Amino acid sequence: MNINNYFDYNATTPTDARVFEAMEDFYKEKFHNPSSFYREAGVVANEIENARENIAKLINCKPDEIFFTGSGTESDNLAIIGTVRKLKDKGNHIITSKIEHPAVLESCKYLEKNGFEVTYLTVDRDGLINLEDLKKAIKSSTLLISIMFANNEIGVIQPIKEIADIAKNNKILFHTDAVQAVGKLKIDVKDLGVDLLSLSSHKIYGVKGIGVLYKKKGLRIEPLIFGGGHENGLRAGTENVAGIIGTGKAAEIAMEEMETEELRIKPLREKIIKELFEKIPELILNSSATNCLYNTINISIKHIEGEAILALLDAHGMSFSSGSACSSKSLDPSHVLLAIGLEHAEAHGSLRISLGKYSTEEGVNKLIEVLPPVVERLRSMSPFWNKG
Ligand SMILES: *Cc1c(COP(=O)(O)O)cnc(C)c1O
Repeated sequence: MNINNYFDYNATTPTDARVFEAMEDFYKEKFHNPSSFYREAGVVANEIENARENIAKLINCKPDEIFFTGSGTESDNLAIIGTVRKLKDKGNHIITSKIEHPAVLESCKYLEKNGFEVTYLTVDRDGLINLEDLKKAIKSSTLLISIMFANNEIGVIQPIKEIADIAKNNKILFHTDAVQAVGKLKIDVKDLGVDLLSLSSHKIYGVKGIGVLYKKKGLRIEPLIFGGGHENGLRAGTENVAGIIGTGKAAEIAMEEMETEELRIKPLREKIIKELFEKIPELILNSSATNCLYNTINISIKHIEGEAILALLDAHGMSFSSGSACSSKSLDPSHVLLAIGLEHAEAHGSLRISLGKYSTEEGVNKLIEVLPPVVERLRSMSPFWNKG
């Protein structure tokens, strides 16, 4: 596999070699259980605290506000379910949006089956929620607002600070799924005023199977997993030590390299959009022109199926997503693309191009060269394409 041809960084990122190197010892001589009594265990426990500190720095919070979980999904579940279970005597209403990740949407659906009420805010053509709609959705029974920082499929970035202000003015807690934003955008949880924030290691060049939840000091939520009192009682289970160490390293690297990476990747994204729109007729740009992650492009290629494009690109050794990887096994079109107003057929013809640390000009040039003839070939076989 040639990493130049990888265009699916929003699905997962490769583990940075420096992360892997930092982890290695913890699979060898530093194997000890951090909860044990002896000196070696203490060394491991200290290293976990160093990692916690690095992650805290990345989002500007205190280390004791950082909790390790088993995935971004688990962090979302814990933030939402854990919060409303704790507050269930005060109300039963949750506000979220229609374009959240399944980790949030499915948590909400589960809660709906268990006596809670959920409002799913609609979004505009760019994928933005409307702040007036948010204010109108608030009831005396509202416990929590959960709105994602940046969307994994189309890259739209929500006005997080404004949402946090509305939540605070109404004494409602605010959680944000920042899995796609952390490591790409500068995030300061104190300045933003969020109460809970989820992130995932494997989306920031760390490792799979580690998530992080930021929980504001003093805020009490119910755990989902019970046992030996790890992570201050919030998430029991012997720590995934190596994964935590790797995540700490990934956070450290992100802090150092985030700004230069943005400057490097932004022009690659602009070049792709410009050239594809010049070379391919009847494209729709689904990612917001103004409020979008600098690494994400989502387009719909009219009159063809996303899966067919993926297959032909795969034959060229190139990796992309159509819709999101999480739902790519189902035939339903992406809920995000439908929410921004696409027709079913347009949503089915979508292609997500997401760039990252190992994206190069060379890879981008190959994409610009390969995609137009692939589209032409597929359209020439399509009964819906006017060949006139
Ligand atoms: C990937 C992703 C998740 C899930 O994180 P995992 O660690 O893969 O469980 C949640 N939310 C968003 C926005 C994501 O992109």
